[in-house]
Amino acid sequence: MTQPEQSPAETEPVLQGPGPEGELRRDEPSADRARGRPSGEARKPIRVSASASLKEDDGDADDGAPLCDPVIVSDAFSLYYGSTVGVEDITMDICPCSATAIIGPSGCGKSTFLRSINRMNDLVPSARAEGRLVVSGVNVYDKRVNLVNLRQQVGMVFQRPNPFPKSIFDNIAFGPRLQGIRRRGDLEELVEQCLRDAALWDEVKDDLRKSALALSGGQQQRLCIARALATRPRVLLMDEPCSALDPIATGRIEELIGQLKPDYTIVIVTHNMQQAARVSDRTAFFCLGKLIEYGLTRQVFTNPHEEETENYITGRFG
Ligand code: ADP
Repeated sequence: MTQPEQSPAETEPVLQGPGPEGELRRDEPSADRARGRPSGEARKPIRVSASASLKEDDGDADDGAPLCDPVIVSDAFSLYYGSTVGVEDITMDICPCSATAIIGPSGCGKSTFLRSINRMNDLVPSARAEGRLVVSGVNVYDKRVNLVNLRQQVGMVFQRPNPFPKSIFDNIAFGPRLQGIRRRGDLEELVEQCLRDAALWDEVKDDLRKSALALSGGQQQRLCIARALATRPRVLLMDEPCSALDPIATGRIEELIGQLKPDYTIVIVTHNMQQAARVSDRTAFFCLGKLIEYGLTRQVFTNPHEEETENYITGRFG
């Protein structure tokens, strides 16, 4: 994958976990971020202020209020597959301890943007990124970023649950073992905590040696969430995590998202608008690779500022 040019730097950027020591440097003031935008194509960046979350009916960005301290900053970010636009000129900040939904018609770039955040698109040879995508102060497209480290800090849950063909225990312990945790007692504690956090512990605690593949689809998806949590990520990306699940399993995942929100930055792609409305604090509407509107979920769904958003949420297209 072609990456944007980087200026040489003195130290390797390190993505670290949550917590005071783990906080990553914010290495770019907003003025720097603005510089990345070609002047001829300047579009008003869509930003959400921290104070917006206190308002009930007007979550739109640029009201002059201070920004939240975003965990993810997308600054004029574009991703192309050869000559095909995946997403183009996406400028938005994503706040911590919340769920942000990305909605839009099929092919509008939702998955492309999500997968750009932990560089899953690197697997596509024709993919080429432009602009900046910063997670916890580090531009993830900096060529010195360690991808294993990045994906431990920016976990991902896919449409179809994809447990490893291993035991429940070994699925969860996989990432921590890679991180060098070896002591049995430490691993047991971690596995239990992650399974509890993913609301699966009570169902599997007596069967940790059982193959993960023997679990139901909904349980497998919660196991995959527990596995993602095991590396202590800051960000959890979810790409249509309920699309392969029945309504009961879907309800449990949605409930789980609500429980995880206070501790993580969750970004969820969904084409289910009711789901976006139920689980997210903020919603971004994409269309034809562009970010059309971004604001508090309630505002986007009840009082959209853009006609295209209104047409989409009222079912006139998509
Ligand atoms: P969505 O998730 O909203 O359905 P995608 O991000 O999958 O949209 O796709 C956005 C655009 O990028 C579409 O035009 C799609 O055809 C194209 N695209 C996605 N993945 C690839 C790929 N691996 N190779 C080439 N084009 C792709």
